[in-house]
Amino acid sequence: LGNTKMKTFEELESTVRSYSRGWPTIFEKAKGYKLWDVDGKAYIDFFAGAGALNYGHNNETMQDKLVEYIRNDGLIHSLDMGTTPRKEFLECFNEIILTPRDLDYKIMFPGPTGTNTVESALKIARKVTGRDTVISFTNAFHGMTIGSLSVTGNSFKRSGAGIPLHHTVSMPFDEYVEDQDSITYLERFLEDSGSGVALPAAIILETVQGEGGMNAARLEWLKKVESICERFDILLIIDDVQAGCGRTGTFFSFEPAGIKPDIVCLSKSIGGIGLPMAITLIKPEYDQWGPGEHNGTFRGNNLAFIAATEALSNWETDEFSQAIQKKAHILSEAIEAIINKYPELNGEARGRGLMQGIAITKPGLAGEICAEAFKRGLIVETSGPNDEVIKFLPPLIIEMEGLEEGLAILEESIKSLIN
Ligand code: PMP
Repeated sequence: LGNTKMKTFEELESTVRSYSRGWPTIFEKAKGYKLWDVDGKAYIDFFAGAGALNYGHNNETMQDKLVEYIRNDGLIHSLDMGTTPRKEFLECFNEIILTPRDLDYKIMFPGPTGTNTVESALKIARKVTGRDTVISFTNAFHGMTIGSLSVTGNSFKRSGAGIPLHHTVSMPFDEYVEDQDSITYLERFLEDSGSGVALPAAIILETVQGEGGMNAARLEWLKKVESICERFDILLIIDDVQAGCGRTGTFFSFEPAGIKPDIVCLSKSIGGIGLPMAITLIKPEYDQWGPGEHNGTFRGNNLAFIAATEALSNWETDEFSQAIQKKAHILSEAIEAIINKYPELNGEARGRGLMQGIAITKPGLAGEICAEAFKRGLIVETSGPNDEVIKFLPPLIIEMEGLEEGLAILEESIKSLIN
């Protein structure tokens, strides 16, 4: 074996490792809204697998259903074969989610992750319209593969991979630009056929930008974007990978805006218990794929279908949604209180639903607060272009007690750093 020094597991892993670098421990167990490390230390989860664990860790009904299915030799991997879990998921999704919301979509399985659904959305929009470009927004995050990265508004992530915005146009997200509402800016750009600006195939956006700093678009802004899309015959793609599945209080984040996007991207929590799964919802008239035109080996994850179907049962009544909104209200009041109590933070409240944050101007302070919170037993992360936003993304099932305990740890951490 020569003189090769044995490497630690940390040395073995690529430096690309992201979020979890700030949590220097080995985790062993998780239940609901809590995690425990190998030393038995407990942590409250305000991160929820970057939004993949809306229903919490290790839901017992999901566990039982998964174990029973495996023990009965149900198919685990089945590509596009028809299976009972796949059939049940499709039927339940239509019955519990689409029909009551008067939404009519074809349901596509584009691959296992968020970036796969975005890629499929961009591809079908370009195919259907016969156009190349896509408009996305400043601070958007849509994924790390070449297509989804090209509509991601983060130059650090994009430029290393050599992706200029050649097939995309980045527009200011819901904000004022040179005294103009960004809607006017967008309209003027689209009207400018004289200078040879090509009409885009689609506009893609997140209603609340998670990675981009918890920036929530106003509902009227979303409505205006939809009407611009109608006016110019452009497809509207809502990337609900992080903001969907109840995160903002309704199953789809765009529901309160009353819009009906042409294409919707879902992943993260759609898999119920943290299993990889993604779906792309496409208005039937735009579902113009030829058979096999977009395929992938891991699209038939039956375990994810089982957990996903169980998760949908939360949406059979309004109770779950109301509980999320109640907790969201408590969270926003707590954020306001912290901002007012600690003016040194120069904090700004961001977000909507259980997807909120505090933007802090002093460089590095948000990260220091998260690191301190970790030591005190709270898992919380930063987001935003300069990691300046403390991002609150607790599992939606968090109990009031857990929410309050987590917020108390956060406040202690802030106090210890600014005094
Ligand atoms: N879209 C949004 C809005 C996201 O937040 C993410 C992940 N953070 C993605 C797409 C990409 O998902 P994945 O990491 O599963 O590819």
